[in-house]
Amino acid sequence: MSELREALKTDLKEMFGPRVSFSRTERKLYGHDIAAIPSLIKPLLGRTTPEAVVQPASEAELVALVKWASRHRIPLTPRGKASSGYGGAVPVRGGVVVDFYRLQAVKKIDAAAQTATVEPGIVFERLDRELARQGLMLKLYPSSYPWLPLEDGWRRAAQASGHSSRAGSGTTLSGCDW
Ligand SMILES: Cc1cc2nc3c(=O)[nH]c(=O)nc-3n(C[C@H](O)[C@H](O)[C@H](O)COP(=O)(O)OP(=O)(O)OC[C@H]3O[C@@H](n4cnc5c(N)ncnc54)[C@H](O)[C@@H]3O)c2cc1C
Repeated sequence: MSELREALKTDLKEMFGPRVSFSRTERKLYGHDIAAIPSLIKPLLGRTTPEAVVQPASEAELVALVKWASRHRIPLTPRGKASSGYGGAVPVRGGVVVDFYRLQAVKKIDAAAQTATVEPGIVFERLDRELARQGLMLKLYPSSYPWLPLEDGWRRAAQASGHSSRAGSGTTLSGCDW
């Protein structure tokens, strides 16, 4: 596994302070999702251990990170709760895992348009509580509702399933801000 150059590590420390980790143990954990990738397949995937893990706490930090990664050609792997179990949140070319744990805000609920704008780490249950304050509710309730992030991980993992926002029965998610 190639290590991030010192100068790049310094950049990440300046951007994220205590919210960047280069610890070997932590990086190994982030090279894994909720399931074990079959041992015959794992060696074919590439560099599954990231060189760093960051937790952006604002949209501005995320934008800065993407610009930095693009400038230095560092792969980014977005990660919600890594619950998909298909290896999607596991890096294949090292780089930096972007953990959305700290981005859980509901930014706007538009009752007339029936839309909600949320940050990517929010879970269904939390959004549902906010909707309930306005007499609204979700159109779908996956079994992992208390802890499964609403945003893009679910969209990506579920868009071909019966709950698909594009093709299935659940049409609650019509757009996202990320
Ligand atoms: C117990 C259990 C019950 C479940 N029940 C249901 C169910 O009833 N209905 C259903 O439809 N599904 C269900 N699922 C599957 C569920 O769809 C996935 O777990 C979920 O979609 C993954 O979301 P995540 O945020 O953890 O994504 P991750 O696993 O973190 O990521 C999934 C993919 O999306 C990418 N990604 C994550 N966040 C972003 C982002 N913000 N922007 C761009 N890309 C991103 C990742 O890189 C990865 O490729 C269940 C899963 C479990 C474990």
